[in-house]
Amino acid sequence: MTAIRLAAAGTAALVALALLASCRQAEEPLPAAPPPQSIATKTGAEMVLIPAGRFRMGATDGKADEAPVHEVSVDSFLMDRTEVTQEQYEKLVVGNPSHFKGPDRPAEQVSWADAAMYCNLRSRDEGLEPCYDEKTTKCNFRASGYRLPTEAEWEYACRAGSDARYGFGSDERQLKQSAWYAENSSKKTQPVAQKKPNAWGLFDMHGNVAEWCNDVYSAEYYAASPAGNPSGPDDGERYVLRGGAWNSSAEGCRSAARFGEDPGFQDACFARDAIGFRCVRRPPAGIARGALSLVHPAFPGNTVPPGHSQGKYRCLFSVPQLRRSRTEKSHRYLASASRIRAVPETPGRTLGLATWLVGQTARTSDSPSNAAAGKKTGFVYGEVYLRHRTSEGHPERPERLTAILSRLEDKGLLAGLTRIEPLAAADRWLTTVHSPEYVERIRRACREDAAAVDSRDTPVCRESFQAAAAAAGGVLAAVDAVMDGKVHNAFCAVRPPGHHAMKDRAMGFCLLNNVAIAARYAQEKRHLAKVLIVDWDVHHGNGTQAAFNADPSVLYFSVHQHPFYPGTGTADDRGEGKGLGTKINVPLRAGSGDAEYVKAFQERLRPAALAFRPDFVLVSAGFDAYEHDLLGGMKVTPRGFAELTRIVKEIAERCCGGRLVSVLEGGYDLDGLAACVEAHLRVLIER
Ligand SMILES: [Zn+2]
Repeated sequence: MTAIRLAAAGTAALVALALLASCRQAEEPLPAAPPPQSIATKTGAEMVLIPAGRFRMGATDGKADEAPVHEVSVDSFLMDRTEVTQEQYEKLVVGNPSHFKGPDRPAEQVSWADAAMYCNLRSRDEGLEPCYDEKTTKCNFRASGYRLPTEAEWEYACRAGSDARYGFGSDERQLKQSAWYAENSSKKTQPVAQKKPNAWGLFDMHGNVAEWCNDVYSAEYYAASPAGNPSGPDDGERYVLRGGAWNSSAEGCRSAARFGEDPGFQDACFARDAIGFRCVRRPPAGIARGALSLVHPAFPGNTVPPGHSQGKYRCLFSVPQLRRSRTEKSHRYLASASRIRAVPETPGRTLGLATWLVGQTARTSDSPSNAAAGKKTGFVYGEVYLRHRTSEGHPERPERLTAILSRLEDKGLLAGLTRIEPLAAADRWLTTVHSPEYVERIRRACREDAAAVDSRDTPVCRESFQAAAAAAGGVLAAVDAVMDGKVHNAFCAVRPPGHHAMKDRAMGFCLLNNVAIAARYAQEKRHLAKVLIVDWDVHHGNGTQAAFNADPSVLYFSVHQHPFYPGTGTADDRGEGKGLGTKINVPLRAGSGDAEYVKAFQERLRPAALAFRPDFVLVSAGFDAYEHDLLGGMKVTPRGFAELTRIVKEIAERCCGGRLVSVLEGGYDLDGLAACVEAHLRVLIER
């Protein structure tokens, strides 16, 4: 195997993964976190574009070398989404040094110099300028090729906007969901990308293998570190390792934990087979360092021709050669308003990854500042939903949807929405919430033309299962449309509703729990860690709460009339086990109206949601708290629902780039329902 000779190979002090008293750092609400944007590279590695920004480096409750905490700014850079795998390593280097073999496992037993050489080989393979001088190992940060991250870049990317002990927060008990470490690794490395990624879409930043950084290690460095793009001391005997490994304690996996290691393992403290790396590189040529401080999938592909203004942004130039990758469509890079001068207008330059580079024009300050300008709100609807016929006189009837549709058409709103066609959700997703036996039971009941399932209030017909599966599938399609950047947010005009449906039981007009299934889909299919479900239907969403009652990854918030059907959702019902405290119920007396609802949203939902920092927001949007509803006894007006929508939308904008899908639940006064949906949609489409 190729190696670079290193002059420095001295002794290294033992690094103890000392367990320190755990002391929670404050978790402050964060500004909007950009959703991860990734590109595929030739070696098969996916890279995430990390936005430029500032963060507080170090920790006050860690080891002495993590102090003082100091503010650091870093330019934007691309970082491998996972640790370099053995398959990726072997594509460029002859021989695989790893102890725990497996193509998807991280490459380990890789010295610092071998990691640097891999970076150079990967750069040459893609026609980029290598960063490392192969005689001196000095890094040229201006080169276009791959290199190891600086320690500051690594910690900034690991934190992904969080000041807490880990990227996901400070609760050590959640580490198992994000990391392979001593508690759960079975004493070996594990395939990459099995655990939950951080808010910027990076996997295994905590655990699996410790990762080489470019910097020489010094325990005293933070006291003298520059504030902008620090790159470590000039020389020293050890290099920085970050992130903890399969054999580390939870303490050793913290975002701020740092270790110094002999670069060639002559005097290794860490086990050799617990050390790997990942690569970074500068943002693409043509964009000055630091220019990409705002990253957002803002524009639908190929709709903004070069030179054409759309909202506040103007497309500066097109990119003729696109890298064909499955994520291509979601790559839209916006240069930040303040740095736009750093972006040269270079027609025809090949960036290799961006569809359009969109820049702010000088004279459009009256346009929306939102990066999502130009993207529409999605609307899920299908004729199939009308085929679920309930009994004569039943309030949950097909006319509910036709009333909504004709109102939106009359008001000229429908044409401005992006239609999303529903497909039936596969059983694989239905059974993330319901038992296979239950799914089969309602399928059979419909096939056999049963009158109802489980209770008389949940009548069915032959086509009810088809409609229910398409209702769930419509919500999943909306999640996909938001995640793929096709729409900014979406409303799903679906029926039958879902929030009362239990794992094994239909109830309250509900067959399949559309919102709960969508939450699991967002987590399992789209790899999102945390989902917020806001339920403002007049009834408590007992089925949804039950599905996640012991699960801290889903924050469920419900405001509802109480006492009322189904009887659950008292204020002291806060979840159970690990989920305790992540279920928030605000029961209100009959007769409550806009003021009580808005107060609950401002005072209870908002702070909890900002602290939780969801990756996706789902709304169980029932409109049966409307003042003249046939079933509910509340006094909420369309204006009130608009205000609730505004609060939830702001939470989504601040926490997860605006990702929000709202799903129809109840609402039984046809005119009132249509008016409330109109008010709700008018806020969703605001930019
Ligand atoms: Zn309801």
